[in-house]
Amino acid sequence: MKDKVYTDIICKEFCKYYKGGKETLFCKGYELLRNNLTPSELKMLAASLKACGDIKNSIPAKSNELTKLVCRRCDFFIDGCDFAESRSGAPCGGYLIIKRLSFLSLWYLHVPQVLLHLQ
Ligand code: SF4
Repeated sequence: MKDKVYTDIICKEFCKYYKGGKETLFCKGYELLRNNLTPSELKMLAASLKACGDIKNSIPAKSNELTKLVCRRCDFFIDGCDFAESRSGAPCGGYLIIKRLSFLSLWYLHVPQVLLHLQ
């Protein structure tokens, strides 16, 4: 089940695929962020991402590390995500935020926890 605080940031602000009323469906990007960042940390990250403009429709360069850490563990990886399948569409909001996180020092604080959740 989603947590409204996280949904308001990850899904409503950054995910072009978000539709209200589907609170039991979430991707691995959402799950990793919810499990590893406090709402305050997430808000800080979101603010840094918003400074980059409207990125909901952006298609980031391929990252084997993020594919392995995030997408391959996602329920939408097989037959449910244009980004993971062919990069013909934008990734989810969770992926976009994690991509940003990978550029910031916070990443290094949370790598051990992220890895724990992937085991
Ligand atoms: S980009 Fe696609 S496969 Fe990767 S976490 Fe998001 S929804 Fe899942």
